Amino acid sequence: MNIIDTHVHLGDIYGKDLKTDKTPYPFKPNTYEQLGYRNIYLGKLNYLFKPLIVSSAKAMTQYANASNLIDSMEESNVTQSIILAVEPNVSTDSVLNICQKNPALIPFGSVHPYDQKKREKLKSYIQAGIKGLKIHPVIQKVSPTDPAMLELLEEASQYDIPVLFHTGWGSIGRGNYGFMYHFKVVLDNFPKTKFIFAHMGFYEPGPFIELIAKHDNVFCDTSWQPEGIIKKAIDKLGGERILYGSDWPYNLQSSSLNIINKITKTNTDLREKILYKNVAELIKL
Ligand SMILES: [Zn+2]
Repeated sequence: MNIIDTHVHLGDIYGKDLKTDKTPYPFKPNTYEQLGYRNIYLGKLNYLFKPLIVSSAKAMTQYANASNLIDSMEESNVTQSIILAVEPNVSTDSVLNICQKNPALIPFGSVHPYDQKKREKLKSYIQAGIKGLKIHPVIQKVSPTDPAMLELLEEASQYDIPVLFHTGWGSIGRGNYGFMYHFKVVLDNFPKTKFIFAHMGFYEPGPFIELIAKHDNVFCDTSWQPEGIIKKAIDKLGGERILYGSDWPYNLQSSSLNIINKITKTNTDLREKILYKNVAELIKL
């Protein structure tokens, strides 16, 4: 069975010159997960773990290279991974380059909203083969409602590509730019753009799922969320708008995958949708 991981990073997305060298991937759950992050009852108490997540995220960045990713995909039977550029820290050109060498990797581009040449850049990246646009308001330090962001979204809406937004709190950058109230404005302005809300709002999955339920053009990935929340999302949104994602290297690809397999044990149709069909349709595979 084909499995696409919708949410994967290569390189140093934090822009702190962290090494992404050849250190072999350790294949063990991150500290945060070991401490019970995927615990539906912890909720916003997880904010207390903030310093731990920051140090864990920096530590995991060292594994963010293509050879470790290919090992991880083999280990977890993931057949394709979507690689997310985050400009200016991880350039679209570098992601396109890696994906050209590895046919199992699918590029999503990034353009910084404050980039003076954002229109031309987006057009050239689309011509070069990106399958979607990644926006990270927290790391890029631009509010989703900033006029420059809305301009970029306006431009993206002219092309038939999905826009994958980081949503919810983020460990490094402007954490509050991922909070839910910003996204209401975005959704009111762009009812036709296909959005993927990564992480389902992280610590705010309940309100985010409510918001997504009101907008048919919004999808979400399952990275970081525990079983109970993913089940709730399936109940509220139906199986068609849920996409398997890991946020590798920050989580094991197998962690999120095992949860989906568990939830869809008796429903192979739903499993195929979440692991492959939904995203394949979005990116027109
Ligand atoms: Zn991510």
